[in-house]
Amino acid sequence: MEGTRGAGRGAMGILFPARCVGCQRVLPYNRKEKGICCECEKKMESVKGQVCARCGKILRNPLDAYCKDCKKYTHFFLQGKALFVYTGPMKMAMYKLKYSNARWMVKFFARETKKRYGGWLKEIQPDCIIPVPMFHKKKRQRGYNQAEVFAKALSKEIHIPVENNLVIRGKNTIPQKGLDFFGRQKNLKNAFKLNRNNVKLNCVLIVDDIYTTGSTMDAIAKLLQKKGVEKIFCLTICIGTDV
Ligand SMILES: [Zn+2]
Ligand SMILES: [Zn+2]
Repeated sequence: MEGTRGAGRGAMGILFPARCVGCQRVLPYNRKEKGICCECEKKMESVKGQVCARCGKILRNPLDAYCKDCKKYTHFFLQGKALFVYTGPMKMAMYKLKYSNARWMVKFFARETKKRYGGWLKEIQPDCIIPVPMFHKKKRQRGYNQAEVFAKALSKEIHIPVENNLVIRGKNTIPQKGLDFFGRQKNLKNAFKLNRNNVKLNCVLIVDDIYTTGSTMDAIAKLLQKKGVEKIFCLTICIGTDV
């Protein structure tokens, strides 16, 4: 039934009515296309305006080129983009997407990506989309990897293939939450591996649900860079704030 719940068409629409990604309530008919209810739309903060030229966070000081984190640390990716600020209804949405099987949400996020970053994606022309992998045992327990589900939905919208078997998570890391920049880096040390030596990619787009400090993206980007991938970009559904 993957992907049918948000569609809200025909008989499937009655069985799986379109729900708001923010509050998960059934949407009235006139909001179905939007994918979010009026209340959540007001509370959700889209990433727009002056953003960090590197990671895509909304800048606290619009006169800066980079956010506080990107001024301090170098990244292994060229540029990142995100759809929403990780706040308000998006916090609950990301929780549901990760832990409560709310896979239907990805269709909305994939469509939003195409709408808002379609031009950027055409410009950068990635060879493939690489979802941040989950440790295999964890994926088996949970049943899915939310980054992979999002990558597949995005692939359908923008017609760029998903490369699912190149990067693997070789160890079960502890959640990054609560760790500082260096703690995150240490936690991710040797966490990812490449499945093969022959990479043959020039430009890739790494996707995930949430971007905080970029440590996860960097860990993967570093590996790919070593194998000759020249251009590495990232895209996430949510992003933290410039603190
Ligand atoms: Zn709502
Ligand atoms: Zn930044």
